[in-house]
Amino acid sequence: MNLIKTPEEIQVMKEGGRILATVLKEVQKMAVEGITTLELDKAAEALILAAGAKPAFKGYEGFPYSLCTSVNDVIVHGFPSNYVLKNGDMVGLDLGVLWKGYNTDMAVSVAVGEIPFETRRLMTVTKTALRLGIKKARAGVTTGDIGSTIQRYVEDQGFGVVRDLQGHGIGKLVHEDPGVPNYGQRHKGTKLEAGMVICIEPMLTMGGITIKKAKDGYGFATRDGSLSAHFEHTLVITKDGCKVLTEV
Ligand code: MG
Repeated sequence: MNLIKTPEEIQVMKEGGRILATVLKEVQKMAVEGITTLELDKAAEALILAAGAKPAFKGYEGFPYSLCTSVNDVIVHGFPSNYVLKNGDMVGLDLGVLWKGYNTDMAVSVAVGEIPFETRRLMTVTKTALRLGIKKARAGVTTGDIGSTIQRYVEDQGFGVVRDLQGHGIGKLVHEDPGVPNYGQRHKGTKLEAGMVICIEPMLTMGGITIKKAKDGYGFATRDGSLSAHFEHTLVITKDGCKVLTEV
């Protein structure tokens, strides 16, 4: 598979990414005490359709919804349900948009009401880990360079970085090569080239990094029940850096 996108393809993904970021921003605002995760899913889907795009995750590997909602110890891929968000929860919102044949992918973790200081710190460190990964990304660096940057920072902050789930290339398919792990060794892995489009998505935990199937049978949760946070952007690699596509 050719992993280098043409300028035309990148332009389409930029448009899709803007729709995605706009929708996710709206859905994020709705994630307050008293709403169900299923209501968030319905809102996300309606906003995507209203923009003339399609929800990329719906039907993907059997996933029946548009939005992944991962509450507290659920790391990613959680099913929306009748669960009512309550004060102190942290919910991961992971959304994909299909626009003119190309996918973009983005995730945020959101605090519901008042959350403990350490939970807030977990979220901040995850967001910063994503930012550091993005800062590292450019033509000539490897996926291992990005992974080691994220891992060293996260472990320095006293949190765990999940190994069994990772970022990925993206385009006509939601998941393309290369894999983009959130750990690793410098100079190892796949060398990035200008025109590649990848998703960087650190998944952090407050405790152990071993994962298990979540109760819904689809998502992944921490085995020890510790809290987990997740942030993600889709970005295109350029000669001297990268450009985030999932922004308003
Ligand atoms: Mg992803």
